[in-house]
Amino acid sequence: LLEVSGVTKTFGHGRRRLTALDGVDLRLRGGETLGLVGESGCGKSTLARVLLGLERPDAGTVRFDGTDPFTLRGKALLAWRRRVQMVFQDPFASLNARMSAADLIGEPWRTHRDVVPTAQARERRVRELLSLVGLRESDAHRYPDEFSGGQRQRIGIARALALDPDLIVCDEPVSALDLSVQAQVLNVLSELRERLGVSYVFISHDLSVVRYVADRVTVMYLGKVVEHGRTEDVFDRPLHPYTAALMSAAP
Ligand code: ATP
Ligand code: MG
Repeated sequence: LLEVSGVTKTFGHGRRRLTALDGVDLRLRGGETLGLVGESGCGKSTLARVLLGLERPDAGTVRFDGTDPFTLRGKALLAWRRRVQMVFQDPFASLNARMSAADLIGEPWRTHRDVVPTAQARERRVRELLSLVGLRESDAHRYPDEFSGGQRQRIGIARALALDPDLIVCDEPVSALDLSVQAQVLNVLSELRERLGVSYVFISHDLSVVRYVADRVTVMYLGKVVEHGRTEDVFDRPLHPYTAALMSAAP
């Protein structure tokens, strides 16, 4: 599904120059969940932005089923944009609280008008999406501040699903939630994977969460990938000293 090779990204100039990504390689097969871990500032979110096509790498390539999204224009670019969506830590931290859940979920259809063509179909699809993430139909007309954090995150997930993506990049999707609510949201994500075959890049500083959701894990340190492998192998038999230190610091 996804192949990243040698991706490098620097910010700033001169003495302020900072290499956020330094030759990053990544692979993800369809239907799999890739956990992305590493300490604060190691480049996880920058990599997420590259995968979403929001940040162009200085060097290296990103290939999505063989196609480099940064070479696409016009309709082809729009078609590709549908395929990769994002779930943030708190999707409503920066959003208009005056939009109802239905408006928020259907927001991507404003750009991608042909996906769900009629108002009637959009209403039906919003109801389906609400039920997919474990919310009620009547929730469609409620507003962000009337939901709990876990419910808001479900709406963020429903919105990410609105365009039927192949890949969802989750950047700390449960970090702002209570433990019991975390488990519920993680179950929603894994159910969607079973039912719809979505793949995830799952960024988290919480290693127990990553161990639970990921098939494979990529460990980053100072902008570089220092380890990549099957989740059990990386956790139980880390090869790199940084991974070993990270794992031994975990609860
Ligand atoms: P965290 O776990 O804290 O979210 P992260 O691994 O997601 O960290 P990034 O946000 O990718 O880290 O940042 C990597 C480095 O790049 C940091 O040193 C950050 O300050 C820098 N950086 C990220 N975005 C920009 C930007 N737009 N301009 C300048 N520097 C940036
Ligand atoms: Mg980050």
